[in-house]
Amino acid sequence: MTPKHNHYDVVIVGGAIMGASAAWFLSDDKDFDGRVLVVEKDTTYEACSTTHTNSCMRQQFSTELNVRISQFAADFVKNLRQYMGNDERVPELSIRSFGYMYLADNNEFAAVLRESQKVQQAAGAATQLMTPEQIIEHYPFYNVDDIVLGSINLIDEGYWDATAVFDWWRRSARERGVEYVQNEVVAMTRNPAGNRVESVTLKTGEVIACGQVLNASGPRAVLTSRMAGIEIPVEPRKRYSWIFSAENPLDRDLPLTIDPSGVHVRENGNGTYQCGGHSDIDPAVDYDDYTMDFSIWEQHVWPVLATRIPQFEAIKVTSEWGGHYAYNTFDHNAIMGPHTHIDNFFFLNGFSGHGLQQAPAMGRGTAELMVHGEYRTLDMSAFNFERIAMNRPILEKAII
Ligand SMILES: Cc1cc2nc3c(=O)[nH]c(=O)nc-3n(C[C@H](O)[C@H](O)[C@H](O)COP(=O)(O)OP(=O)(O)OC[C@H]3O[C@@H](n4cnc5c(N)ncnc54)[C@H](O)[C@@H]3O)c2cc1C
Repeated sequence: MTPKHNHYDVVIVGGAIMGASAAWFLSDDKDFDGRVLVVEKDTTYEACSTTHTNSCMRQQFSTELNVRISQFAADFVKNLRQYMGNDERVPELSIRSFGYMYLADNNEFAAVLRESQKVQQAAGAATQLMTPEQIIEHYPFYNVDDIVLGSINLIDEGYWDATAVFDWWRRSARERGVEYVQNEVVAMTRNPAGNRVESVTLKTGEVIACGQVLNASGPRAVLTSRMAGIEIPVEPRKRYSWIFSAENPLDRDLPLTIDPSGVHVRENGNGTYQCGGHSDIDPAVDYDDYTMDFSIWEQHVWPVLATRIPQFEAIKVTSEWGGHYAYNTFDHNAIMGPHTHIDNFFFLNGFSGHGLQQAPAMGRGTAELMVHGEYRTLDMSAFNFERIAMNRPILEKAII
């Protein structure tokens, strides 16, 4: 598809959850009346991370900023209609707050959970630590023989309908004049000084001049950055998901349980459960490689599930898929804001396994930076590109 114009104030490369959020928040800013183009190479969104997600949010992070980002996500989701100008077509959403249950099987990880709980509580999150006895009292189906501590938060933590938010961001932004085209950005040109991107080139040949450009390309973030001559530490890592039904379903909601093995499983409704995991060797994969490794279920995931929840001895997989994290190998955290030298090139990259819930705050923050040159709500400057250049990681310990 060809864009209507040959110049846009903002060109967004990638139109999944991050691109859609940034575009919508730009369209929502009263001080901004610029032209926005979102270029998305596959408008079925079949292969992007956004479509392969677990669709959950949590406040159990180890850094205050990540807790606050998820708190905004909860507020945004629960008040979607108000955020969208009380448009009655917008659905009223809620969060199915079954919580995330982190299980520690050693004192070292238990200490991390204790430390993180302090950070979370100071930020207003309702995280509770649980002894194995308390876990069994509330969730009798777990085998806790090897567990020393659990950590759970039952407020604004669990499943949410990310598809509805994603759809409404796109629909509302389009109605406000944001232009979406199915096409691919294949190159960029810079000015003679090399400190600004002047244009993007589309696969169909058009050269589109841009005031600012946003990299919202998910696992392909490196390819987009390289078009401007920038390297970032983001790579595609494969993550597998399974939906299964249980012959004997649990009698209460299953929290999104993070087993010490790394396997995670959660309530999916009607006697079904969603489970995720990855292979022990976790290399970067090809951008188009979504093949399933069926041996992981048989040899690793199912045995873990049946051991942790003996009622899951008799289960049947009903669907399965492979998806990609845009994995930030530097510190697992977002890379956000402008590049240090190419100051009209902005990042929204490297979200690993928690980008969906970060999308509202990331889009809002990006729009603030692009329009006002500063963060006006939550200060997200810790996620700047400079920390990579300066080798100053802000390590997030609660990574799934
Ligand atoms: C199995 C799995 C489970 C997850 N579970 C959760 C969860 O429970 N909670 C949570 O918060 N997060 C979760 N995540 C992470 C979350 O899904 C991602 O962080 C988030 O979807 C990233 O969105 P994005 O828009 O950055 O990337 P993507 O969704 O990958 O979108 C990038 C888009 O850019 C487009 N694109 C790329 N290059 C170009 C180009 N040159 N030109 C035009 N278009 C281009 C692509 O086609 C794609 O549509 C999960 C991820 C996976 C894989």
